Amino acid sequence: MLQETVSVKVTRTEASKIGEVDWNNLPFGRIFADHMLVMDYRDGEWQQAEIVPFANLNLHPATSAIHYGQSIFEGLKAYRSVNGEVNIFRPDMNAKRFAESCERMCMPVIPEDMFVELIRKTVEVDSEWIPEQDGFSLYIRPFMFATDEFVGIRPSETYKFVVFTCPVGQYYSEPVKVKIEEYYTRAAVGGVGRAKTAGNYGASLFPARQGQSKGFHQLVWTDAKEHKYIEESGTMNIVFIIDGVMVTPSEDADTILRGITKRSVIEIAKAWGIPVEERKVAVQEIVDAHRNGTLQDAFGAGTAATVAQIVKIGYRDEVLELPPIETREISNKIKDHLDGIKAGKVKDEFGWCVKV
Ligand SMILES: *Cc1c(COP(=O)(O)O)cnc(C)c1O
Repeated sequence: MLQETVSVKVTRTEASKIGEVDWNNLPFGRIFADHMLVMDYRDGEWQQAEIVPFANLNLHPATSAIHYGQSIFEGLKAYRSVNGEVNIFRPDMNAKRFAESCERMCMPVIPEDMFVELIRKTVEVDSEWIPEQDGFSLYIRPFMFATDEFVGIRPSETYKFVVFTCPVGQYYSEPVKVKIEEYYTRAAVGGVGRAKTAGNYGASLFPARQGQSKGFHQLVWTDAKEHKYIEESGTMNIVFIIDGVMVTPSEDADTILRGITKRSVIEIAKAWGIPVEERKVAVQEIVDAHRNGTLQDAFGAGTAATVAQIVKIGYRDEVLELPPIETREISNKIKDHLDGIKAGKVKDEFGWCVKV
């Protein structure tokens, strides 16, 4: 029914670049498929969506997003399953989060079922770009930004929604080293931490670079008020296993991005009978658990790496060493199960995949 209500005009490229791709070498986010979807908002409504050959955008220098930051994005993936079908992983969740980001940033919402259908069409047109190799995928980047040609701070009256895609390889995550950050802040209560909005990432670069200069890949953000409670890490949510219990910061505060990967990890864990606690997690609790030998696992959860196990946590002048990755039964099993669902190797009992 939806296919009838969401019309997309498709103009195919006459010069596909697919023959130039080195499928064994797909650096993340640098190779772009042949087409992109573009849809403008003006006069109070979304205009005709179009899929066009991938090309530069032509922008007025006063384009308001560039100056005042009304700019949001999403990230999700499409996978080629073992039986040749195409699975998009939980796009309905991205649609919902995108709508929440829109509201927080005073941007016009795209109805969730329309968002999913636009993503599906974009993937369908470039479905040849979905790599076949195990663990490879097509990364999908929907984004929206304010386009009023106007100098002045107020919500824009016009916007552009774009979706492009990138074939990406397996994410070889080196075991991750993180540092607990106790000075800089990613998000404060009442701020925009829950929105996937561009400025959050710009603001994180400087503190992240300080951490990198000390040999850590990423920071673990703590609460803005006391720097006592763990929030999340870079573009990943964070999960701990303490004495067999999965413990992760609750998302009740509007300072934590509500990750779809972490939600999926929790849903699998619960289905398997693993106890899960979503609550405040004090830095001290993690340090104590490490000291008394009950900190069995810590990992980041995000679309790019799925599950990225943490091997070292920098805390003040100490480095906490975590157990070897081979011993991390729960996170290894959950990661394999999630990868299996996306690849069609494991039954999608939760109904997470949307077929193209
Ligand atoms: C995107 C993102 C995540 C992970 O979300 P997923 O939906 O799992 O990809 C976590 N934290 C931040 C800050 C993010 O931007």
